[in-house]
Amino acid sequence: MISVAIDGPVGAGKSSVARASAKRLDFIYADTGALYRGVALYAVRNGISENDADFADKISAILHEITVELKIKEGDQRIFLCGEDVSEEIRLPEISMAASSVSSVPSVRDFLLDLQRDIAKKNNVLMDGRDIGTVVLPDAQLKIFITASPEIRARRRFEELINKGVETDFEQVLNDLNRRDYQDSHRTVAPLKMAEGAVLLDTSELSFEQAVDRVVELTETIVERNRT
Ligand code: C5P
Repeated sequence: MISVAIDGPVGAGKSSVARASAKRLDFIYADTGALYRGVALYAVRNGISENDADFADKISAILHEITVELKIKEGDQRIFLCGEDVSEEIRLPEISMAASSVSSVPSVRDFLLDLQRDIAKKNNVLMDGRDIGTVVLPDAQLKIFITASPEIRARRRFEELINKGVETDFEQVLNDLNRRDYQDSHRTVAPLKMAEGAVLLDTSELSFEQAVDRVVELTETIVERNRT
């Protein structure tokens, strides 16, 4: 099996680029952020807030009640929380922020680790997240770190939210993005950082198609090398 680990900050284009690349390569695309978002949604629905003094304990205590699954339905990935399809709800901005908070709790990371590794055991996969190349799949044959300038990433995220009909403003999106990046890069467990040996792909000046071409090209080189 071939594993490609794709990491990077918020809004760098990881998910859309990885999804399109996987389609072209006939690989599975696994969006690990959706798993953290699933846990965050469960926590929010149960009234647990990141401002609670015992936030980490409260989250740890509910993990045994939660099942999260990634399923491929009609070629697209859907996320199920305790059997319910929550693929749209987990994209709300308040769940993005909550996901960043739950993801800093070590028991949550442990809880989701095997699930992510199992996907890679069974499939040729392009897996995206924050710690895929460093922690989840340290032996991935290819590691890519996708980034872009904060303003460009915020602009893309803003347009994505507006297109989905979510009311927001640019400054708010930029602030949330900077806060989430800071939190994700400064946590003690599995912080966002470029894995050793990763290829840096800055999409600031690239079109979507150019970024996909680059990921496909890099992966095909690995596929070819594995054949020989
Ligand atoms: O990628 P996405 O924005 O959907 O991820 C939501 C949050 O989940 C991130 O801000 C990050 O805190 C967390 N996450 C993580 N490790 C991953 C994927 C996501 O900590 N592998």
